[in-house]
Amino acid sequence: MGGAALSIARSYDIVIIGSGAGGGTVAAELAPLVRDGLRVLVLERGPRFADADFTGRELEMAEALYRDGGAFLTQEGTLTLAFASAYGGSTVVYTGTSLTAPERVIRHWGVAGLDHADLARRCAKYARQNNVHLLDAPLINDNNRLFVEGARAAGYHVEQFPVNVTGCRGSSLCNLGCPNQAKQGTNRVQLPSAERAGVEVVTRADVRRIAPDRTLDVRVSERPAGGKGLPPDWAPGEYRVQAGIVICAGGAIGSPALLLGSALPARLPRLGEGFTCHPALIIVAEHPRAITNDVGHPKSFFVDHAAAEGFVLETCMYFPFVTAKSLAGFGASHSAVMRAFPRLQMILLLACDRAVSTNRIALDHAGEPVVHYRLTPETIDALVRGTRAAARIAFAAGALRVHAPAAPPLLEAADATRLEQRITARHFRPGSLAVSAAHLMGGCAMGRSAADSVTDAWGQVHGLPWLRVADASLFPDALEINPYLTIMALADRVAEGVRRDAATLLRRPAPAAHA
Ligand SMILES: Cc1cc2nc3c(=O)[nH]c(=O)nc-3n(C[C@H](O)[C@H](O)[C@H](O)COP(=O)(O)OP(=O)(O)OC[C@H]3O[C@@H](n4cnc5c(N)ncnc54)[C@H](O)[C@@H]3O)c2cc1C
Ligand code: SF4
Repeated sequence: MGGAALSIARSYDIVIIGSGAGGGTVAAELAPLVRDGLRVLVLERGPRFADADFTGRELEMAEALYRDGGAFLTQEGTLTLAFASAYGGSTVVYTGTSLTAPERVIRHWGVAGLDHADLARRCAKYARQNNVHLLDAPLINDNNRLFVEGARAAGYHVEQFPVNVTGCRGSSLCNLGCPNQAKQGTNRVQLPSAERAGVEVVTRADVRRIAPDRTLDVRVSERPAGGKGLPPDWAPGEYRVQAGIVICAGGAIGSPALLLGSALPARLPRLGEGFTCHPALIIVAEHPRAITNDVGHPKSFFVDHAAAEGFVLETCMYFPFVTAKSLAGFGASHSAVMRAFPRLQMILLLACDRAVSTNRIALDHAGEPVVHYRLTPETIDALVRGTRAAARIAFAAGALRVHAPAAPPLLEAADATRLEQRITARHFRPGSLAVSAAHLMGGCAMGRSAADSVTDAWGQVHGLPWLRVADASLFPDALEINPYLTIMALADRVAEGVRRDAATLLRRPAPAAHA
C-alpha cells in the first residue's frame, strides 16, 4: 500500500517552502494576491514560538531553535554550520546587522539581468520596513567601544552596523532569539503581515519531495512532549499538497537538498554546487579589568577588509558554551580563559570564501542533506591575515593577552610586535581549530543556463517556469558581508516575477479544485 493512499489532499495556487529571510519576504509580497482570490500557503518545518518560549538560556534555546543545536557538522568534520528551523527561519536567531550588498560583489557575480542599483533599492525598502538604524551611544557596551578604540589605534577604518531593532534592551541574547521582541525578523514583520492578509502558514510541516506534477509530499509533526513552541497548524499526518506555483525558500542547505531529492523533470547538473559560508573564528582577548561584554547589543561595529585582504572583523559576544567550544587548546589554559569571562573582549573574524564546485550540498543514503566543504588555501590565508588584524586591534585596545590559533594559543602583549611570526598558516590546519559559519549561501546559484547555474536572475529554475527559488541558495558566490537584506531583496524580485507570471502559470494546467 503506497503512502499516498493515506495522505490528506490539499490544493493551493502558490506554495512557499520555508519562512526565513527569503520565504517570509515572498509570503508578504504575494499576500495581495489573496485579495484576487488566490490561495497562498507557507509550509515551514520548524515550530512557531510563543514570546514566553524565549528564555535566553543557552543550551535550552540552542536545542530548540537550531538544527543540531547550532553545530551541524560538515561531511569532512572540519566546520560547523549554524541555521535555525522556525517560523521566521534563521531571522529568529540572527543578530540583525543590516548591510546592503557591495556593488563590486554583484558585478563580480556577473548574473545577467541582476544589477546592483535594483538590489540596493530593494534593500532600502526592507531596511525601512525593519526599522534599520544606528544604535544610540547608551546601548554601546565596552566590548564594542574597545573594538572601536583598538581598531582606530591600529590604523583600521571602523564602521557602525545599522541594526533592525525596535525597543532593544541590550540583553545581548539575539542569537538565542530575542526575549524582548525587539529584533525585526520575518517572524515579527513580514509573516504576521502576510497572515493578516490571508496567507496561510503551517508550521511543523516538512516538505519531503516535490513531484513533477507539482504535488508536494508533506509531513506535519506533533509537538514533542515537553518541547517548546506551539502545536502544528494542521493535524499531524501525511499530506499531498497540489500547487500551481512552488517557491522553494528552505535556505542554502534546505532548498538544494529538497530539489536534489525531488524527481524534477529538468536536468540541473549544477544543483548543490558552489556552497559558501564565510568561515568564522572567534578571537578572544583578556583585559585587566571587568568590561561590559554580555550586556548591551552585541554587534555594533565592523572593519571591512574584504576587498583588500578577504576578511571582515565584527564585534561579537558569545555565550559560555559556544565560547568554550570555540577556543583552541584545552585543560588549564582553556579554563583560565573561561574564568576570565567578565574581562573578555571578543572579535568575530569572517573569511570571504569563494564558490568552488566541490564545496556542495548532497544527500546521504537516507536522503538527508550533507555538506561537503573544504577550506581552500586562499580562505586559510584570509583567516591568518584576519587573526593577526584582530590581535592587533585587541592589543591596541589594551588587552593583556589574546587567545588565537598559535602554539601555544595564548599571545602575550610582548607578542604584539611579532604577530606575523606567531600567527601562521601552519596553526590553521582544518580539523585543528574550531571554525564555524552562519552565513550559508549558494547551492541553487543564479546564472545564464543550466550549464552554469540552477536558476535565472529572477529565481526561476531553468526549464521549470512553475518552480522558483527565493533564499540564500541563489547566491552564485559569497556576498562578503552579512547577507539577510540581500536575501530579502532577491526574494522581493522572485515575488515580482511570480506576480508577473501568475496568470499564465496558473492557467496551464489548471490547479486542482480547492480541498
Ligand atoms: C546565529 C546567526 C546570526 C546571524 N546574524 C546575521 C546578521 O546579523 N545579519 C545578517 O545579514 N545575517 C545574519 N545571519 C544570516 C541570516 O540569518 C541568514 O542568511 C538568512 O536568515 C537566510 O535566509 P534563508 O531564507 O536563506 O534561510 P533561513 O532564514 O534559514 O530559512 C529557511 C527556513 O526553511 C525551512 N525549511 C528548510 N527546508 C524545509 C522543508 N523541506 N520543508 C519545510 N521547511 C523547510 C527551515 O526550517 C527554515 O526555517 C545570521 C545567521 C545565524 C545563524
Ligand atoms: S540585544 Fe536587543 S535585539 Fe538583541 S536580544 Fe537583547 S533586546 Fe533583543
